[in-house]
Amino acid sequence: MTRRFRSALGWCVALLVLAGCREGAGPVAVPPPPPPPPSAFTPGVPVFGQRDFIEYVPGALAVVISVPHGGLVAPQDIPNRTVGTTVTDNNTIELARAISAALVARTGRAPHLVVTHLRRTKLDANREIVEAAAGNAQAMQAWTEFHAYVDTAKAIAVARHGFAVYVDVHGHGHPIARLELGYLLSASTLGQDDNTLNAGSLASSSLRGLPPLHRPFAEILRGPTSLGGLLAARGVSAVPSPTMPSPGSDPYFNGGYNTQRHTVGAVVGLQLEAHFAGVRDTEASRLAFADAFAESLHRWIEEHVRRSW
Ligand SMILES: [Zn+2]
Repeated sequence: MTRRFRSALGWCVALLVLAGCREGAGPVAVPPPPPPPPSAFTPGVPVFGQRDFIEYVPGALAVVISVPHGGLVAPQDIPNRTVGTTVTDNNTIELARAISAALVARTGRAPHLVVTHLRRTKLDANREIVEAAAGNAQAMQAWTEFHAYVDTAKAIAVARHGFAVYVDVHGHGHPIARLELGYLLSASTLGQDDNTLNAGSLASSSLRGLPPLHRPFAEILRGPTSLGGLLAARGVSAVPSPTMPSPGSDPYFNGGYNTQRHTVGAVVGLQLEAHFAGVRDTEASRLAFADAFAESLHRWIEEHVRRSW
């Protein structure tokens, strides 16, 4: 069953890529087959794209986790990218799997997980396709598969639960050892007071699909029941949070291509930028962080979404 999905999706994507490469050379005569329906995926049974570069583990929770920068596979036949960033977010695949396991331990069900195993020198799945794949057909196919699997995961979650929470997992190397939670709001926006945030920032944030709001937006974003607040209460320093409402002039990632692209409609989410020491450096760190994150996410959904997940 796994192989059939791989081949159907792969063929579809290959034709799309081929059509793009042959622009001006006439249309492709054979229409691509439809992608597999969401109902065709089984929770816990992983499926893979071409050459196993992209892995999708279907889940049963209303949570979709993606990892675009943790891959270590660097095939010689795909040239290194020469434009953009190529630094690997070390141990973020392991971190995401730990978060998935912690959610299973807490709820009995797993989130959806989409991972690229390609090294960032070959593919940056958190950029639009031109910078992401540098024109290489195989990298373009992997990029298309990555986002198709995230779309599938979102569709399954929204069909079942009416919403989804999307978490794009990264690792940063900034000097301050704290989580950077990116909701698509700039440091200067986060520098505003709560009343100003409440009045006008929801629509441009990655939580824009949340309404009806049960709490003021600033509370959801950086109050005691925000994700940053809940994590801080469990010993994980985070911005934004009650004690660090804004990054100010310090380096801060506020969310990239994936967060912008995938937090639409009934999907809310964030970019999770993890520091290294104490979060993703060792298995013990990852287990402890994953437990704190799973508990915090659980509380956050109960407080602010208030739907079965
Ligand atoms: Zn990253």
